Amino acid sequence: MPIKVLDKEVVARIAAGEVVERPASVVKELVENSLDAGSSQISVEVRGGGVSLIRVTDNGTGIPAKEVELAFDRYATSKIGDLEDLDSISSLGFRGEALPSIAAVAQVEVVACAVGESVGTYLNLKDGVVIDQGSRGRSQGTTVTVRSLFAKVPARLKFLKSPATENSHIADVVSRYALAFPEVKFTLSIDGRENLRTPGNGRLIDSGIEVYGLEVARNMLEINRDKEWEGEATVSSPVVTGLIGSPAVSRSNRGYLSLFVNRRWVNSRMLAWAVEEAYHGLLMQGKHPVAIINISILQKEIDINVHPTKTEVKFQNEHLVFGAVQKAVRRTLIDQMPVPKIEEVATTYRVSSKPRRVSWPSATGGSSLFTSPPAPSQTPAVSLPELRVLGQLLSSYIIAEGPDGLYLIDQHAAHERILFEQIKHQRSRQEIEIQGLLVPVTLEINPKQEEALNSCYENLAEFGFSIEPFGDRTYLVRAVPALFYNKDWAGMVRELLDSLTGGDKGDWVESVAITMACHSAIRAGQTLTDGEMGELIQQLEQAAIPNTCPHGRPTMIRLSSGQLKREFGRV
Ligand code: ADP
Ligand code: MG
Repeated sequence: MPIKVLDKEVVARIAAGEVVERPASVVKELVENSLDAGSSQISVEVRGGGVSLIRVTDNGTGIPAKEVELAFDRYATSKIGDLEDLDSISSLGFRGEALPSIAAVAQVEVVACAVGESVGTYLNLKDGVVIDQGSRGRSQGTTVTVRSLFAKVPARLKFLKSPATENSHIADVVSRYALAFPEVKFTLSIDGRENLRTPGNGRLIDSGIEVYGLEVARNMLEINRDKEWEGEATVSSPVVTGLIGSPAVSRSNRGYLSLFVNRRWVNSRMLAWAVEEAYHGLLMQGKHPVAIINISILQKEIDINVHPTKTEVKFQNEHLVFGAVQKAVRRTLIDQMPVPKIEEVATTYRVSSKPRRVSWPSATGGSSLFTSPPAPSQTPAVSLPELRVLGQLLSSYIIAEGPDGLYLIDQHAAHERILFEQIKHQRSRQEIEIQGLLVPVTLEINPKQEEALNSCYENLAEFGFSIEPFGDRTYLVRAVPALFYNKDWAGMVRELLDSLTGGDKGDWVESVAITMACHSAIRAGQTLTDGEMGELIQQLEQAAIPNTCPHGRPTMIRLSSGQLKREFGRV
């Protein structure tokens, strides 16, 4: 076939595919338009899973009579004017694609009445072409009715799920926006039944009650503002607000995590990860938090023009946003639940009796990441002076000051060293703390791993694992070392068994302790509170060999005051 430019209609249909994937995408685009129009009331009505009917009515600014038809032209928008505007988009829409895309795959009717107009404008489109128009009485606002969605696109229709599933996607979209805009009164009716109604009184918790129910809402905590930042408004710092569920209301999927950037609902693995990391050690394995989080950030620091559905966002400084979210959530959890829940069940929380000469910028109490190490079994080979934490760098290194200069400490390596010594010490005294699992968990391993496991049952038991055969390469785990409770102990066991294949157990104790320490240590990229950093350093000071991790890599770099002076040219 020779090359030729495609028909307008084919182009429209192809482009529509990107914006309108399913009925819920239509609802999302229409609700976003209503929100952009400054509506305080938005009602959504759907029938037949959204295929027969979707109607969104609002009381926003409306569309002026002479612009109604234009609104259905591709790339016609009132929200941005030039290239510069693209760098600071404050509306939810901006691509001018939604109305034409919807009109390309459905029958659309609109009645809009703009500010100052006495009568509404009516427009009816079929296959993207106007078939009827006129005026209709209505108060200020816009009503868009979409019928027979995908009737002309059988391929799409075929891929839709049952009406019940499509309805649940629609309810999900409306619920998310109801959470993002608590000052807007939302109603959703599905096949004539009222599914959701929010009061629109501006209180997030009240929208939360309607969306998640009273039980969940009752267990939500309001994200605390960072006290450190108060008063010195750092313009470029993202501000994190919202409600997060206490660990008591965790869920088995991520559907209860609503993330918004400048109140735009976004899909972001990075942000979801930041939230989950903040709950590290507080939720049972396989459980996910409930959270409604908005990140307010300067428009110029984000790019939302990544995908036609505008649910993806790129951050100029991803690292900063990750840290801000993780820190805000963790701080809220720690402040509002002073008792470190996981340690209550998993390990004994011992506070070091060693008197401190140095005072930390904030109280060290209430930290939940670390348990105190045992008293050193030997005099430290390289003793570490007492250090004062100055801050965290790249969410991976702790910057500290000592009497002899500046220390840059690798948080993962340092924690590995602490845990390694702790594990070896506890094992030698047969003091490994064991955590029985509420329900035994099955562990499947490969034939090679099974071979290794056969030779080391008892040794594993010494470290706190209770593992017994349970059929074909499947084992039943009844207890794990307390250190591993809620962590990926299965991954750790598999890695250990892999390292043992070949039957050579080598220095068994050493390799188990190393693997255990490595798997349970905090990772690089994890934001720590001042209290947590202080505690980590305090424990490192007490380690026998604080300056290397058990693999032999350095845990810290020191810049002496002499070096600093030389670097800056002052002798
Ligand atoms: P975009 O939202 O990206 O601008 P759309 O195709 O969704 O593109 O809408 C085109 C234009 O129609 C909008 O820019 C806006 O001016 C107008 N419009 C659409 N829906 C509404 C509404 N509910 N209220 C007021 N104006 C609307
Ligand atoms: Mg739009």
